[in-house]
Amino acid sequence: MLAYTYIEHGKFELIEKPKPGLKDPRDAIVRVTLGSICTSDLHIKHGSVPRALPGTTVGHEMVGIVEQVGADVTSIRPGDRVTVNVETFCGECFFCRHGYVNNCTDANGGWALGCRIDGGQAEYVRVPYADQGLNRIPDAVSDEQALFVGDVLATGFWAARISEITEKDTVLIIGAGPTGICTLLCVMLKHPRRIIVCEKSPERIRLVREHYPDVQVVKPEDCREIVLRSSDHGGADVVLEVAGTDDTFRLAWECARPNAIVTVVALYDRPQVLPLPDMYGKNLTFKTGGVDGCDCAEILRLIEEGKIDTMPLITHRFPLNEIEEAYRIFENKLDGVMKVAVSEREKKGIRVIRV
Ligand SMILES: [Zn+2]
Ligand SMILES: [Zn+2]
Repeated sequence: MLAYTYIEHGKFELIEKPKPGLKDPRDAIVRVTLGSICTSDLHIKHGSVPRALPGTTVGHEMVGIVEQVGADVTSIRPGDRVTVNVETFCGECFFCRHGYVNNCTDANGGWALGCRIDGGQAEYVRVPYADQGLNRIPDAVSDEQALFVGDVLATGFWAARISEITEKDTVLIIGAGPTGICTLLCVMLKHPRRIIVCEKSPERIRLVREHYPDVQVVKPEDCREIVLRSSDHGGADVVLEVAGTDDTFRLAWECARPNAIVTVVALYDRPQVLPLPDMYGKNLTFKTGGVDGCDCAEILRLIEEGKIDTMPLITHRFPLNEIEEAYRIFENKLDGVMKVAVSEREKKGIRVIRV
C-alpha cells in the first residue's frame, strides 16, 4: 500500500509498504477513506517532535472503514465507518479513568499514531485499543463532516469544555486557524454573551466574518483595547490562546480580567515567560494544552444534529497519490488553504476548491 512516511529530518516520502496486520487482540485495521494534514505533521518534518520515529507513516487525522478487528474488540465491527482518535489510550489506567486520556500510561499512550507508530496518510492503518480509538460515524454524517472529529475538533471541544464558560461571559479566542475555528465552534455551543476572535490573516478574518457574523473579529494590534472596552469587568472572562506565538501568549493574559480563566491550547516552539510581578493581583487561572480526546461520540452526535459544522475548513481536496502537492500548499499556506482533505488513491485528478 502507499504510505506517506517520515524518512529523516526535513523529508517525508510516499512509499510502498506492506499492509498492516493485527498485532494485539484489541487492535483494528481501518481502510482510510479520507485523511488530512495537521500542523503537527509539519512539526515532525521539521524536527520539533523529538519522539517521532523515522520510518513511521505520518498522519493522525482520518476516517475510514473497519476491515478487521481483534478478538477482544467489542464496540465496533468490520464494515463500520469510523473516526480515528489522534490519541491512543487504554481506558483502564488512573488517567484514562479520570478522562485525562492524553496522559494514558500505556507505552503508546497519548499521541502515538503517525508519530511513533504508523499513522493514516496511507491506505490502511492499524489502530491500537480500537474500542477507545474508534467511533462509529452516524449514517447522516459524511466522511468530510467527520474528518476533524479525532484531532482538531476534539481539541476545540476539550478547550471549550475545560474553560468553564457561562452565558454571561465575554470570551476571547486568539487565532482563527483550523484549531481556532474548531474552538470557536465549540465555544458557540456554550452561548456566551460575547465572542471576540483575534486574527491577523485577512483570509482567515474573511472566513470568520462570512460564516460567523455574530462574532466580533479584531486584529492583534487593536485586541487589548477593544476587549477591555467591550467587556464588563476590565477584560475577557475567558481567554483561549490558540495562536502559539510569544506575542499571543502575552496578549492572552493581558486581555483577561482579574480571576479569569486563560486556556492555553496552542503548542509553542519556545518556552514562554510568566511575568508574575506584572500579573500580581490578577489572580488568573491558567489551563494548559494537550487535548483529552475522549468526547468523540458526543461530537459526532452534535455534527449529526447540525450543531457543529467544520465543512468551511476544507478548502482543498487531493487523492493520496498527490499528497506531496497537498503538503506543498498546506506547508506554504498557499491559495488560502485552511485544511486539505486527502482521499483514497483511486480518485484521480485534482479538484482545487476554494471557500
Ligand atoms: Zn493534529
Ligand atoms: Zn490509560
